[in-house]
Amino acid sequence: MVYDGVEDIKKLVPDLSDEEIATTDFGRYTEEQFFDDMARVTQYRTNPDLCEAIVKRSLDTLIWMRSKGVRFLPYYGRQSFKVDGRVKFWGGLTITVSGGGIGVVDSLFTAALREGVKVAYNSRVTRLLHDGAGVHGVEVASGGNVTQYHAKAVIVACGGFEANAEWRTRYLGRGWDLAKVRGSRFNTGDGIRIALDVGAQAYGHWSGCHAVSWERYATDYGEVALRTSFQRHSYPYGLMINANGRRFVDEGADLRPYTYAKYGHIVLEQPGQFAWQVYDAKVAHLLRDEYKSRQVTKVSANTLGELVAKLEGVDAAAALKTIEEYNASAPSIGTFNPTVKDGLTTTGLTIPKSNWAQKLDTPPYEAYAVTCGITFTFGGIKINTNAEVVDVMEAPIPGLFAAGEVVGGIFYFNYPGGSGLTSGAVIGKIAGASAAAFATTKSGAIN
Ligand SMILES: Cc1cc2nc3c(=O)[nH]c(=O)nc-3n(C[C@H](O)[C@H](O)[C@H](O)COP(=O)(O)OP(=O)(O)OC[C@H]3O[C@@H](n4cnc5c(N)ncnc54)[C@H](O)[C@@H]3O)c2cc1C
Repeated sequence: MVYDGVEDIKKLVPDLSDEEIATTDFGRYTEEQFFDDMARVTQYRTNPDLCEAIVKRSLDTLIWMRSKGVRFLPYYGRQSFKVDGRVKFWGGLTITVSGGGIGVVDSLFTAALREGVKVAYNSRVTRLLHDGAGVHGVEVASGGNVTQYHAKAVIVACGGFEANAEWRTRYLGRGWDLAKVRGSRFNTGDGIRIALDVGAQAYGHWSGCHAVSWERYATDYGEVALRTSFQRHSYPYGLMINANGRRFVDEGADLRPYTYAKYGHIVLEQPGQFAWQVYDAKVAHLLRDEYKSRQVTKVSANTLGELVAKLEGVDAAAALKTIEEYNASAPSIGTFNPTVKDGLTTTGLTIPKSNWAQKLDTPPYEAYAVTCGITFTFGGIKINTNAEVVDVMEAPIPGLFAAGEVVGGIFYFNYPGGSGLTSGAVIGKIAGASAAAFATTKSGAIN
């Protein structure tokens, strides 16, 4: 979110200690930076009106969430480094939710239940109740039963189509049926389909998605108990090598929050849909916690020759040549600095490594097998800045609102780390307010 120094952080984390304030440089993340990040990583395609709403309302939305019981913390563990004795954050990711994804869901459900919201579990919305006057509710399948819930307004917020192998192949393309799904098995595009069925406009990057490097032998869908232990985001400090023993991407093109969401695609395109991430002992302390979990496919060795022989499915001779060529092209002078794009760049390689290009020369060496894990899809339905779903004539469909992954037009090609939840939160709050306002102006009982 946008914030201007520690005073804004204190609005979200009022119990920051004096010591934390003294030893932390919270910096700032301005509206211009957030907007620029969104524009740049989406190749200037993000819908400017929706993007502006997300950027401008980000801090207020988080303050409102805090008032509802969501607890925020500085993101010390993952997204900060010590520079000259003070902790610094990078990539605009300064705050996290206590308890991570599970924490945010738990606190929001607690708030919703406290305010009288009823939750129908094991219930799948199958269609919208709709006529010429608009949307009047939903039809739900639950066990063997079909129930109709009548309502003055409906907000569709049931995710993208990342868990639908058939739609992934149809819209993202060949090979996407083979991706692992990082999150819910239930996000199969139902929300998008039922809205399209009543005339919603299809919008955004339907062949695009957020996808990351993910444990090669991960479960097919996300498992709450395993949380994020399958993610492998530390590649900027090492090399990625495919089955042919070749590098295939600039691991150091940018700070991790600006590349990780698009590099999953590139791993999926490799032969066998896998790669190995290779590190030496110099950077072992920088590898994120997941690398130390039990859910890893990992090999280690004291020489590079021994290491490449252990990379299952890889042409070992070619891999050794690749690493030797890389080592020869990595600079011998310069200071490695993971907190900024440090400019340690290879010379003469067809695929450069543009930053953090240290030689792989310090045993023990480690390698981790990865494949592609899809997080969410970018294509969806079109809304206006009131979160009203619009039809192909840009006219709002009365009574229908949307938020979250079902909304198209916000992300294209890539996304700045953390902006998915910010988007869902800001537009979710707008959708709630708009739906409530619509419902109060609609006369008569719910039919
Ligand atoms: C492992 C992982 C890590 C992530 N990390 C981050 C991060 O660090 N920062 C960030 O910003 N974003 C992150 N994201 C992305 C972000 O969490 C999601 O994009 C966001 O939660 C989407 O919100 P949503 O409300 O659209 O969908 P969801 O939160 O997925 O909720 C959709 C709900 O709809 C339900 N549903 C689906 N179909 C139906 C139906 N027919 N009827 C009824 N219910 C239905 C599903 O069961 C689900 O509960 C991560 C995602 C994953 C999977």
